[in-house]
Amino acid sequence: MFSPLFSVMFCRYHWPMMFSAVPDYHMHTPRCNHATGSMRDYADVAIRHGLREIGISDHSPMPDGFDAEWRMQSDELDNYWQELETTRNYGKERGLKVRRALEIDFRSDQLAYTRSLIAQYPWDYVTGSVHYLGDWGFDNPDARQEWEHWSLQDAWVAYFDAVAASAESGLFDIIAHPDLMKKHGHCQPDDAQVEAAETRMLTAIRDAGCCLEISSAGLRKPVAEIYPRAAMIEHAAAMGIPFAYGSDAHAPQDVGHAMQDCLACLHRCGVRHIACFEQRQRTMMDFTR
Ligand code: ZN
Ligand code: FE
Ligand code: FE
Ligand code: ZN
Repeated sequence: MFSPLFSVMFCRYHWPMMFSAVPDYHMHTPRCNHATGSMRDYADVAIRHGLREIGISDHSPMPDGFDAEWRMQSDELDNYWQELETTRNYGKERGLKVRRALEIDFRSDQLAYTRSLIAQYPWDYVTGSVHYLGDWGFDNPDARQEWEHWSLQDAWVAYFDAVAASAESGLFDIIAHPDLMKKHGHCQPDDAQVEAAETRMLTAIRDAGCCLEISSAGLRKPVAEIYPRAAMIEHAAAMGIPFAYGSDAHAPQDVGHAMQDCLACLHRCGVRHIACFEQRQRTMMDFTR
C-alpha cells in the first residue's frame, strides 16, 4: 500500500522520540512496602529523561487494616503529603511539575472512607483502581490458586463491572490499568458477555468524565502487553474517552517506561491528546507537537 520511500520516511519520523514527553501519572513510594526509591529519586529520573511533569500516586490506606501489607497506613498520610510538597518544590526549581495524587482501590463497601480520604487534601488528581474481586486480590501472584474457582468469562465480567462501578462512583479522575485481570496471562476471552461488560465499563468511564490510563506496567509483567490491550484502546478512542499515561513505576528506573510505545498505540487509534491534571482540573496536551 505504501511506496518504499514513504515507508522509510514514516519510520524515520517515528523513531526515536517521535512524540513529546507527556506526564507520567502513576508511581509509588516505599510506603506501600513494595516499591523502592524516594520521591526525589523518581523526580531525578524524570528530569534525566526529559519529562516536564510527573504525578506521585501511591497506594492509599484502606480502613480496618484491609490489605495493610500492600499500602501506606492512614497515620502515614500527613508525612506522604509533606514529602509530596517537598518534592513539588524540588521539581519546581528544576523545571519539573510534580502532581500530588493517590491510587485508591475502589470498594463499594468503603465509599464513605474513600470520600473522606479524598476530601482531606487538595489532590491534583485521584486514580481509581480495582485489584480485588470481593476479597480476592486477583493480581497478587500468591492468590493465583483462586482462579480454580472462576471461569475466565465470569472473572472478566465481574472485573469490568467492578471498574464500571468505580467510574460511576464519581470519585476518580483516572481509571488505572483497565484490563489488569490479564496480568498473569489470563487474557480477555473472545466472548459476547465479556465484550458487553467492556462496553458497559467504557460507557461508565465516558459518562463519568474519567480518563482511561494507558499503562506500560503490563509490559513488565508475565502478560508482556500494555494495559489496556490494543482493541480496548481503539474502542475507547472511538468513544472519545481521554487517556492519561502511567508507568506504574515501583522503582525510579521505571519512570517514563515505554512512554513512546504507549503514545504510538494511541496515535495509531487517532488519538493526539493526553490528559494533564492540576487541582483536579483536566487539560489536554497535544503530544504530536
Ligand atoms: Zn503497587
Ligand atoms: Fe494498581
Ligand atoms: Fe500503581
Ligand atoms: Zn498499579
